[in-house]
Amino acid sequence: MPGFRLAIAGFGKIATTQHVPAIAATPSVELVAIADPRATSKATSLDVPHFPSLEALLRDGPEIDAVTLCTPPQVRVAEARLALEARKHVMLEKPPGATVSEIAPLLHTAQSAKRTLFATWHSRCASAVEPARELLAERKIKSVTIIWKEDVRVWHPGQDWIFAAGGFGVFDPGINALSILTRILPRPVFVTRAELGFPANREAPIVVEMDMSDATGLPIRAEFDFRQTGPQTWDIRIETDRGPLVLSGGGAKMSDGDNGVVDAMKEEYPALYRQFAALTAKGECDVDLAPLQIVADAFLLGRRRNVEAFEF
Ligand code: NAP
Repeated sequence: MPGFRLAIAGFGKIATTQHVPAIAATPSVELVAIADPRATSKATSLDVPHFPSLEALLRDGPEIDAVTLCTPPQVRVAEARLALEARKHVMLEKPPGATVSEIAPLLHTAQSAKRTLFATWHSRCASAVEPARELLAERKIKSVTIIWKEDVRVWHPGQDWIFAAGGFGVFDPGINALSILTRILPRPVFVTRAELGFPANREAPIVVEMDMSDATGLPIRAEFDFRQTGPQTWDIRIETDRGPLVLSGGGAKMSDGDNGVVDAMKEEYPALYRQFAALTAKGECDVDLAPLQIVADAFLLGRRRNVEAFEF
């Protein structure tokens, strides 16, 4: 497979903790530049040039073939447009954008330029996801319960963008659960009821309770909470005609009835880079907006209530 030269735009937590090691583990991908408003102070250990913006990188930086966008979602569409118009392949961190409708023009630009647009869902690369999908294809599913509760101060320290409009609030982790749900269930899912709790001083929800269903009337319940201290919970329980299937640890583990059938921390990000390399080699796009559409519909249909103000 031919190699390519890659830049990262948005050099924050996920870029440093996941993307840099994953790129280093992918022989066909070479990291050659970084764009971030404060890149120089953040990336001193990496021997690649830093630029204050993607625009500056594309203008003054080394030749690149592709860009990974790890910025907050609110600014991602403008950067994606810039990169695609410069005929670069683009990998989008999740969520792919701040709105659903901003993605179609990007896809059109990518396809016209024969470039790859890859909307990643890292949780779909977790160890138990494909085994769960295969088991569920053979069973009658009776109900699904998602409990996704984590401590925002641990996982997103000081990230004010996450509680700004377009930052998704607790849907930022919740969309990971929805990306697994929409991969493992055999039919499309839609929202039937949602209650969104917004901190009095913030623009995005910190707690969400949501009901969903499918064409067969399957009951699906989800609880997302960003205020969980102590043990963290990333579980999906599926009741089936052959007993419960439980995915835990964000999809890293699965039990089938009383039997643990998967228990392995799979490296999600190297898998994403292998997929990206394969897509670019074929000039194909991979954009599934189902998880983003569910979040958008929860905002459309959901009842809003105020909860206690939140400070990091
Ligand atoms: P973060 O730590 O706040 O990093 C975002 C970075 O982007 C910051 O360095 C920010 O700089 C920079 N930035 C902002 N606007 C930019 C622009 N126009 N051009 C270039 N860089 C820009 O956030 P994060 O946790 O890495 O999350 C980023 C994305 O990854 C989110 O979509 C999130 O959902 C996803 N993600 C995060 C995690 C996680 O555990 N944190 C896990 C999986 C996926 P400033 O700080 O100077 O604004």
